[in-house]
Formats: sequence, C-alpha cells, structure tokens
Amino acid sequence: MPSTPWSIEDYQPQADDGIRVLIIHDMEGLSGQDDPSSFDFGTDLYPMGQELLAADINAVIDGLFAGGATEVLIADGHGSGNPEPDLRADLLDPRARQIIRDEPFDTYFDLPESEAIDAVAVVGMHAKTGSRGFASHTFTLGIDLLINGHSITETELVALSWGRVGVPVIFASGDDRLAGDLATMPWIEYVTVKEATAADSANLRPLIEGRADLRAGAQRAVENLTSAKAMRVNTPIFASLHAVPPASLRFLDGIPGVEYEDDTLTFVTDDMRAAYDGLVEIVGAATVGYLSLLQEVVRDRPDGDEIMAAFRAALSQRWFDQESGRYERPTPTAGGTSGPGRYHGYR
Ligand SMILES: [Zn+2]
Repeated sequence: MPSTPWSIEDYQPQADDGIRVLIIHDMEGLSGQDDPSSFDFGTDLYPMGQELLAADINAVIDGLFAGGATEVLIADGHGSGNPEPDLRADLLDPRARQIIRDEPFDTYFDLPESEAIDAVAVVGMHAKTGSRGFASHTFTLGIDLLINGHSITETELVALSWGRVGVPVIFASGDDRLAGDLATMPWIEYVTVKEATAADSANLRPLIEGRADLRAGAQRAVENLTSAKAMRVNTPIFASLHAVPPASLRFLDGIPGVEYEDDTLTFVTDDMRAAYDGLVEIVGAATVGYLSLLQEVVRDRPDGDEIMAAFRAALSQRWFDQESGRYERPTPTAGGTSGPGRYHGYR
C-alpha cells in the first residue's frame, strides 16, 4: 500500500478565460437544520429543507462571484428521491446554472470527465461514517469507504475525483465534525454552520451569521485560488469498504479468495474511477445487510409469525417453480435505462 493515500499538488488555474466554479451540494450540512427528516423527500419538513438548501447555496454563489468567479454551475450530490432537483430553480440565484442532462450521470465521477471547471465548492456536506456528525455517513447508511487505508468523507471523494484532472476543492460547508474530518485538506475555506450533538440533532448557529460566513468564505476561496491544492490518489489504490450497521459484509467471512477482514472488503486497482465504480458495486452488496433489520421489524409485529410463514412458503414455491421450469427469472435492467428524460445528478 502507498505510504500516503494521495499526493497534494500545487494548482495553476487557467483564469484567462474566466473562472468557472462547480458547486456540488448535499443536503445534510445546512444552516438552520437540525431535523434529519428535512433532507428526505416526501416528509413534512422537506420543503423547509429545500428553502434552507437554496439559501446556503445562494450565499455561496454570491461569495464566489464577489471573489471573481465568472460562471457558477451546480450539481446535485444528494439524491433525496425527489424526481426534481432538491434545489428549487425558482429559489436559485439566476446567475448560476444547474447541470441538467437528458442522460443519467454520476455527480462525483462523470463531471470531471465532461465539464471544464477551474475549482469545486461543496455545500451542505456531512461528516463521514463513524465521525459522530449530524447524519454522518459515506455514500449511504452504514458505509465507510477507505482509500489506501484512509477512511474518507464524500468531500475527499469529490477531491480525488477532480484530482484526476488536477482541479482542487476550494470550499466546503457542514457541521463541526466534518470540519475535523477535513483536517486532511487545510487549504479549504471551511464554514461550520452547526455543531452536531448526535447523528439526529444539532446546535444551530444564527442563520444570518452562518450565511454571512458562507458568503465570505466562498469569496476568499476564489480570491485565494492559486493557493488551493489538487488531491491525486497514489497507486496502486487499495480500495476498501468497511460496513457498519445497518449495512453488513459479514456474509463474506470465511469465503476463500476474498480479501475480507474486520467487516472490510478490499481490492486493488490503479485507477480512481475503477476504485469508485468497484466500491459502488460493493455498496450494493453491503446494503443487503439492511434486510436483517427488516427481519427484526417483521418479527416484532403482531402478525410477524404469519409473515415469516408466508415467506418460508414463498421460498419453497420459488424453488419448486424453478426446478419445474415454471419460473422465469426477470432480466435485470442495466443501470440508467430509465430512458430519455431530465437528470440532475446523483445516479
Ligand atoms: Zn445527502
């Protein structure tokens, strides 16, 4: 394994054609937000979450332009389940443009391969799994991602993706725990908008004060663009997924030929994109662990025994149908075949 997970590179922005900044936003690290239901589509508090999101982003946009940005693009990194972007276009500063495509795209990894950007700002982010931040997680529930043995935040994942093309992350906002996680990126202008007291509660800073800091930090981030650093992964890349509840990889324990130890599956590759794509596949496997919680939920219900009996009967029936040639397995639809439409990021 390389002795350091990544290298820090000096940055020479090509600013003669203007400064294009990409904002990638999440929805857990917002000012004025201390209830997790505010980032879940369909809840009573979600519309308020959308307003908080737009307000933080607008403060950052204003600061980026004040610092010298000539163009600001926005991509959704949250994925609340809302078919529309979490960021409402009618609330957004009209100087900025949301990236909307007619094909699905991955906000973290497809954009560096297709957009020319001078710097990246991340807004409304959360600490990594295990950091005891507000809604702390990495990618999804119970997932801890490691690159060359170092557990990373989604902000570092964004930096390593853009580091492939030598572009730095210059600004981030979120809670005090993410501030601690990002000691790895000291050049970032970081704004702490709240203090996590648990994964589902936080002490809030006054809104006006926090948003003024968002604006000022974003301005400084662009003004100091030349002192920003790009993060390039060191190879070979040891990519690991460490699963904690409610996810699990324990079904891999004892399987020969699998690099698995202490709830962690590791593979080696030379390419950051391949590392990410592989980790995403393992996320799919680890989230199978969620189903043991489903079993607990069913068992605790008054009709739990009935449901489990129906499940055992269905298992037998599926076996009989398969062995009798009566069962036709549905063909899996390849990812992203939802057809032409309007896509705003995530996956
Ligand atoms: Zn999110």
